Amino acid sequence: MNKVNIKKITIVGGGSAGWMTASALIKHLPDDTTVTLIESPRIGTIGVGESTIGHINTYMDAMGLKDSDWMSECNATYKTSIKFTNFREKGSTFHYPFGKYDFSLTPDGLNDYWRWKAVDDKVTEYDFAKLFHSTIKMIDDNKFTDNEFNELHGFNFKYDTAYHMDATLFGQYLKRRFCDDSSKMTHILDEVVDIVQNEDNSIKKLITKESGELEADLFIDCTGFASVLLDKTLKVPFIKFDDVLLNDRAVATQIPYIDKDKEMESVTNCTAIENGWVWNIPLFTRIGTGYVYSSKHATEEEAEEQFRRHLKSSDMVIADEQRADDAEVFHLKIRHGIHKYAWSHNVVGIGLASGFIEPLESTGLMLAHENILFLLRTLLRRNGIINRIDVDSFNFAVRDTMEGFRQFISLHYALSSRSDTPYWEEITKNISYDKAVYEFTSEGAPLGNNVYADLAYSLNMSNSIGNNVGGTSYILAGMGFDLVTPVDLITMKERLNINTDYSYLREEFDKKQDRLGQLVDLMPTHYEWLKENIHTDKVKTGEINNGK
Ligand code: FAD
Repeated sequence: MNKVNIKKITIVGGGSAGWMTASALIKHLPDDTTVTLIESPRIGTIGVGESTIGHINTYMDAMGLKDSDWMSECNATYKTSIKFTNFREKGSTFHYPFGKYDFSLTPDGLNDYWRWKAVDDKVTEYDFAKLFHSTIKMIDDNKFTDNEFNELHGFNFKYDTAYHMDATLFGQYLKRRFCDDSSKMTHILDEVVDIVQNEDNSIKKLITKESGELEADLFIDCTGFASVLLDKTLKVPFIKFDDVLLNDRAVATQIPYIDKDKEMESVTNCTAIENGWVWNIPLFTRIGTGYVYSSKHATEEEAEEQFRRHLKSSDMVIADEQRADDAEVFHLKIRHGIHKYAWSHNVVGIGLASGFIEPLESTGLMLAHENILFLLRTLLRRNGIINRIDVDSFNFAVRDTMEGFRQFISLHYALSSRSDTPYWEEITKNISYDKAVYEFTSEGAPLGNNVYADLAYSLNMSNSIGNNVGGTSYILAGMGFDLVTPVDLITMKERLNINTDYSYLREEFDKKQDRLGQLVDLMPTHYEWLKENIHTDKVKTGEINNGK
């Protein structure tokens, strides 16, 4: 795109990505910028996507949103961790909690966990999160606190919590709060039926069914998987992720609570089953659940049967035959991958229109609001003036973020020990997850700076891990990968003179768990806490009648 001064922006699509984008632009762009959002009254929004991760707090801060402003209107609850069940093998569980590591018991950081595990038979994979976070006992007992008196060491309530929310209601909340009364905003309920392009392929105007033509300096494609502008019109190449991520379908439903004190957990539960995994997302008045699976390994009918079987199983907090039989399910196709350029000519894609990775790490909304912040920075940096370098930098940031998550999410599969179905067998035996590692010897691909190459180094050469590896360590530990094997213990003691007496850590760890147990006993359940502090209006109007 040539150097332009962007003052007129048109967004196509009114899902959560569309309204998150419109609201951020309205709030932050100067008064001489106008924003038009057109959404089809005929084409619905995707209707899933209810679990967020900690990054959302940056968007909330940028929008000046406090929990008490919006959570009640969006049926929201808190999320403090993602719990992975049956990924390593059937019956296994581990957490990936939010927040920074607390190294107060471990002077050698993450490495102390693996050395301790090598010498103390009682240490389990589940203990990794317990060692570095003080929230796991609270999560396990389904209790909750805002940690006002800092009793849970290291738990920063504001930034170490994310949300389960009805994302469609969140979009509508943002619309009301930031857009409806703004003189900068025009909202059109209509469909884009044709698009006229300039000679250089950029978009000249959108033709609508009933509202005439729309011109703009910048068009933002928020049309979901349809990707009407970026994909269908500009034909920007799409890079698929199906070589390493097999799940391309979902079957989803919403189920009522039976007992909110027990079932309203502050975690998203991800449970691996025959051909994929099931999400369990507890909102305030209902639970959202769905099965993400591979169409290569199960038909829609088979997937639905496996999903209902799971809803009746002991992997649920409460298994209930009737609830599982009554569930009205809907089926979805997943298009996962990313457009080579999220910004091409005068079009920027945000949300599903730009790209999507299967939802195991709840990255959908995150990728939308991260890209919105990238865009805002780009537009604000020089008051709407855009050069080629701005577009290229934006595209790099989007691709780099997606690539990082593609590798990270594929790690959850690559490290599994399962081979009990053809699906798990393909995942653990046949897929080459990263060229740099898997084809290094045969094709001479260079070692790159990436998750798999770093892992190969940690596992084989250094037997240690840096404290800045982010989420990789939780997955590595949870999947039972021991960085310190018996042979490493010997060399550590003899040659490197590293202390391998961890009796102090056993003592401190047990003491810490006892103390946390006493604290957690006094806390209210997550449901009780939300009733008292967030959903107070529903309590007053007697709206709470679902489950207990
Ligand atoms: P959509 O909701 O599909 O909205 C598209 C909009 O475009 C609609 O308003 C439609 O009317 C409009 N439109 C389309 N064509 C036209 C046209 N021609 N003219 C005018 N308007 C048009 N994300 C998370 O963060 N956490 C999760 O746990 C999570 N789980 C997911 C599970 C699954 C199975 C899937 C598929 C996605 C999940 N996501 C999740 C992603 C999340 O759903 C999306 O990122 C989010 O809802 C944003 O969607 P969107 O606004 O991009 O698209």
